[in-house]
Amino acid sequence: MIVYSDAYLRHDNASHPENAARLKAIMDYLKEKLERLDITEPRRATRNQVCAVHSEEHYEFIRTLSEAGGGSIGLDTYVTPHSLEVALLAAGGAITAVELAMQKGYAFALVRPPGHHATRSEAMGFCLFNNIAIAARYALSQGMARRVLILDTDVHHGNGTQDIFYSSAEVLFISLHQHPLYPGTGYVEELGEGEGRGFTVNIPLPPGTGDESYLRAIEEIVLPIAEQFSPQLVLVSAGYDTAKEDPLGGMLLSQRSYYEIGRRVKALAKPIAFTLEGGYSLSALARGVYSTLAGLFGLDMKEARREEALLVKAEVEKRLREYRRVLRDYWEV
Ligand SMILES: [Zn+2]
Repeated sequence: MIVYSDAYLRHDNASHPENAARLKAIMDYLKEKLERLDITEPRRATRNQVCAVHSEEHYEFIRTLSEAGGGSIGLDTYVTPHSLEVALLAAGGAITAVELAMQKGYAFALVRPPGHHATRSEAMGFCLFNNIAIAARYALSQGMARRVLILDTDVHHGNGTQDIFYSSAEVLFISLHQHPLYPGTGYVEELGEGEGRGFTVNIPLPPGTGDESYLRAIEEIVLPIAEQFSPQLVLVSAGYDTAKEDPLGGMLLSQRSYYEIGRRVKALAKPIAFTLEGGYSLSALARGVYSTLAGLFGLDMKEARREEALLVKAEVEKRLREYRRVLRDYWEV
């Protein structure tokens, strides 16, 4: 249940960490490891589907820049003549994954450019349109679900997704990320507003966090809250820049965490759609996607455990106690 198109390779800048080689590495690895790869072509998101999440001005800005030959947005985000088309296919890929998940249980959208930093009105952090937010909005508007959980496991905080659903109680946004790190948001005190108060949950973790602490945060905070929310659809912003090999992140996750993310999310027993976000070590990224699929399928995986420093373990323990205290006003944790 992979959603993928070679068209995703057309938005490219080889000197940028977010480039086409990322998806090539994943597809090559999956073809090597899996006997059979079930690939669905993505649909193209419509302007209306994009603008159910983004402002018209934002859509027009990306369209005009792309049609004018491209350029850069801020210091880190590039647009090419193909980017509008590819970004629409990326958002559409996340939608296709939701439809597959509703029919078959789960799907993984291997898309580019990533989306979780794109806010309602701004492209940033390599992201043009917020793929997962567009897919969540689509599922809600089609009546596929009334409550959608978005779990963001990228090393960076999913500020765009948080921004888009900050006052919504229909979407529970839970993010595990390294802090401090780009974009600087994602404190535990950022809890949502109005009706959405309590439906944004941030779990910032220190650099050096390894499997043990990470999985503990999932066990102690993410899963209890997810179960109480009782979503009808689970979307995962799957980032692999938490890997110990990653050049942009400072976490130390091994393949074990990616396997466990797949396994534990599956145990929620709801339709699940993964959407690719970051991950810049080609080898850790490719193996990471495979490990997540292995967790979902229940395949066997033996990977050596990496011990994290005692100091980091103690720091995460302290933080998780503090986060539970803050979140206890809203959830039993
Ligand atoms: Zn990231």
